[in-house]
Amino acid sequence: MVSVIMPKEKTCPPIRHGVKFCAAPSPRAALGSQSGNPALTFAQSAAPTAQCHDADEATIRQTQGPYFKPSSPQRADLVEPETKARLVEINGQVLTRSCRPVERALVDLWHADDRREYDNAGFRYRGHLFTDGEGRYRFRTIQPALYPGRTRHYHIKVQAPERPVLTTQLYFPDEPANRRDGLFRRDLAMRITEAPDGLAARFDFVLDMR
Ligand code: FE
Repeated sequence: MVSVIMPKEKTCPPIRHGVKFCAAPSPRAALGSQSGNPALTFAQSAAPTAQCHDADEATIRQTQGPYFKPSSPQRADLVEPETKARLVEINGQVLTRSCRPVERALVDLWHADDRREYDNAGFRYRGHLFTDGEGRYRFRTIQPALYPGRTRHYHIKVQAPERPVLTTQLYFPDEPANRRDGLFRRDLAMRITEAPDGLAARFDFVLDMR
C-alpha cells in the first residue's frame, strides 16, 4: 500500500446508513453509546487535567486522506486479536474554546494496521463513539505502522451535535519520521506516557464553539 496522494478534504461525505457526519447523531444513538459503551470496561487510568485555557485556539484541521469510510462500527476497542503491535489507549476530552466539555460529541477514528494497510473492504481499525457527560472519549487500539511518505498518525473526526465536523490527524511526538512529513504539526502531537500494557496517549480536542 503506497499512497501519499491526499485528495482535497470533503467535509460532507455522502450519507449512508449509520454514522452521518453532516448531521447530529440521533438521541437514540447517543443513548446507546451510554448504555453499552465498551470504553467503560477499560481499566481506568488516571485522568489528567485538561490543558485548556479560555479562548484557546480550536484544534487545527487536516486532510482526511484517501481512506475515510463512513458508517464505522460504534466501538471503543479496535484491537484485533492477532495483532502483535504495541497497544495504545487514546483518551482525552472534547472541549469548546471556553473549555466547556462537549457531551455526545461523535469521535470517529481510523488508521493503518501493523502491516501499513488500511482496511478498505471492512472496518478493521475503524470505529466511533460518543463522548460522555464530561466530554471524555477513550479508544483502545494499536500503534499504526509507518507507511511510505507519512509519519505515524491516526485519522480522526470530531463533531459536536448539530455542528460542523472537525477532521484532523494525531501524531506521536517523538517519532523520528515526523521531521520528514510535511503534514506533521507539533500542535497535533499526543501526550504519551508508558502504560503497563502499552502506551497511554492523551489529546484534548478544542472545537470552534463557545
Ligand atoms: Fe493515513
